Amino acid sequence: MKNSIRKLVLAMSIGILAAGSTLYAQPQNDGLDDTYDTSIEAQDAEVPELPDVTADTIEAEILPSGVYADGVSYAAFDLTVYDGSFRNQLTAVEASFYDDIAGIENPETHLKDNRVDLSTVVEEDRLYTQEERDSKAYMNSEIYQQLFPQAMRAMDAYIRDDVNLYWCNAFGAGIRVHFTRADNPEDTSVYYYKVTYTMFWYFTAYYSDIIAEMPETEAALNELREEISAKLLENPSRYQIIMAIQDSIAELVSYPSADLSQKYYHTITGALLEQYGHQVVCEGYSRLFSILCNDYDIPVMNVEGYSYTGSSLDHMWNYVQMEDGAWYLIDLTWNDAGESAYTTWNLKGSRNTIAAGNHIPAGRLFYSREYENFTLPILSEESYTDNLSTNCSHSDSAWVTVKPFCTEDGKEALICQTCGKILQKRESAAAGHSWGNYVVKKAATGQSEGLEERTCSRCGATEQRTIKKLTQKQMVEAYVTRLYTLVLGRKPDANGLNAWVSQLMNGNNTGAEAAQGFIFSNEYLKKNTSNAEYVEMLYNTMMGRKSDAAGKAAWVKQLDNGCTRLGVMAGFVGSDEFSKICASYGIQRGTITSTAVTDQNPDVTAFVCRMYTVVLGRNYDPNGLDAWTAKLLKREIGGGELSMGFFHSQEFLSKAVSDRNFVTICYRTYLNREPDAAGLESWLVRLNAGDSRDRILDGFIYSIEYGELCTSYGINR
Ligand SMILES: [Zn+2]
Ligand SMILES: [Zn+2]
Repeated sequence: MKNSIRKLVLAMSIGILAAGSTLYAQPQNDGLDDTYDTSIEAQDAEVPELPDVTADTIEAEILPSGVYADGVSYAAFDLTVYDGSFRNQLTAVEASFYDDIAGIENPETHLKDNRVDLSTVVEEDRLYTQEERDSKAYMNSEIYQQLFPQAMRAMDAYIRDDVNLYWCNAFGAGIRVHFTRADNPEDTSVYYYKVTYTMFWYFTAYYSDIIAEMPETEAALNELREEISAKLLENPSRYQIIMAIQDSIAELVSYPSADLSQKYYHTITGALLEQYGHQVVCEGYSRLFSILCNDYDIPVMNVEGYSYTGSSLDHMWNYVQMEDGAWYLIDLTWNDAGESAYTTWNLKGSRNTIAAGNHIPAGRLFYSREYENFTLPILSEESYTDNLSTNCSHSDSAWVTVKPFCTEDGKEALICQTCGKILQKRESAAAGHSWGNYVVKKAATGQSEGLEERTCSRCGATEQRTIKKLTQKQMVEAYVTRLYTLVLGRKPDANGLNAWVSQLMNGNNTGAEAAQGFIFSNEYLKKNTSNAEYVEMLYNTMMGRKSDAAGKAAWVKQLDNGCTRLGVMAGFVGSDEFSKICASYGIQRGTITSTAVTDQNPDVTAFVCRMYTVVLGRNYDPNGLDAWTAKLLKREIGGGELSMGFFHSQEFLSKAVSDRNFVTICYRTYLNREPDAAGLESWLVRLNAGDSRDRILDGFIYSIEYGELCTSYGINR
């Protein structure tokens, strides 16, 4: 243990600024006598020194004593108030100041000469006469006298809660006193004043350059973050994270050997930047540790207090909360023996610390030490044990890159893959990048070059190179390869590929014909695809995209209603998309024509199909469908004769349907709906009275509705 290094230099002065009074001499008049007191900024400039703390006063004021069952005496906080935020320990006025401070954007821009006004308004509950105003009687009021302590507690709580305020040192604040003329109903002989107060604020920095150094500090911090994350297994435990953080800090940072008054020794900037030699005192260690724990949402705080019972307020360390919900002490400063021991002051409980007379927390920050304590989390009595690493044999380990060593020297660590323990570390000399294979970022076409990229598996660096434009043969090969992929779902075989390429190159086949060759190949037919699968394949192959629901449904319906697959494919060949696909591969598109009768007019085909379904109650047979469709297309017959053909067919007659069913089928066939009760009855009456079924059919055929139905399918009645 290094006794000599435990002294935190209290270089921070308490920052109640004595601003020049002329700054506020200008009254801001709201029409009444509203002005500012100009003399109070200097008030309270003297802050009493920290009282000499003895062991007795610590016991008496801060630490309730107790005795463990085994007879060891201890002192522990009963600090159940802490619930994750120090704001919750503030009074309403303090919390309001806290929120004002938290709402300040870019606080680092509000240094000494750039004050910021807080919006909280505190009001006196009594009125003042002119005489009282002149004599500053308000300064004796309790409300006035509480303003500084309240504001400071607010700032303390805020700095505690935001561990990233590393650049911020003591702060400055002042009170503005506002007078507004008011009537006093009990005394109308003279004017009275209502008095309200607001606070103004300055942030102050640890040392003059720290704000300018923030970008470098952040960059160095990010480098450290990468090193830490490289040392972690997937889903690391808090213990593993804390050990990785501690390892990286200990490797980077050391305690200064002399001249501890340098202010950057108290900051993470001092720890991170080369120009300060990566040297910090306890405060720098603690703050850096907090920020890094905060990255992983590990509850953490900086704690300052007394190295030993009876010493002065001289040290800072950390409390962290582990997964078990308990809080433990960790002191990186005392742990950092130079390399990687980190066990002596690692996640200790109160038995080894407070009860043993070391690490006595002050429960307050520097800035308000003459005011009130904050309550800290209660420390676990026992120290933390990580069972996983304690019981691990570390038999499964792997070297990981902590800092890439491609272009400059880097670092590696041997990590136990079971418990995450860092077993060994080594430096590695620059070894060049470790490139992976090139991956195509943009494919070359006949018109433009492509781009491919490879990535270093160690540092993530990338390198690109262009791919030459495709020759005509390469483009044709790409087109044929595409058909193999999209139609047959496989890579091309050399013979097949060459055959198709030469057919396309010498102009024997167009792009459409090649597609037809694949789609109607035995290999594809054997796949026995459904109509829906067939249409989806056409979208992918001929349009270069997935189907849309409405378009796909329409094509599938055509196939279900008697159109051939070739007829549907011919429709896709005519699309703009297929023309563009062929053009992009530099080949002739060509056309496909289906000579099938059923493909000539899909609506007419669908009309015939409908007769099979509605009258005969079954799917069409191809020969019958062809024959009927051909007659309708040539207009040899109309819809009426078509329907008579179905009703007179042997197939229908042999069903011997009842009159009621007969009329119902007529309604479906000719009127495209179910019968209404009255209509059905009147037709049955006619049949019972001796009308033949043909007379009934005539009645339906010559209905207005059937005429319209025929017209909608584009055929004669
Ligand atoms: Zn292990
Ligand atoms: Zn690399």
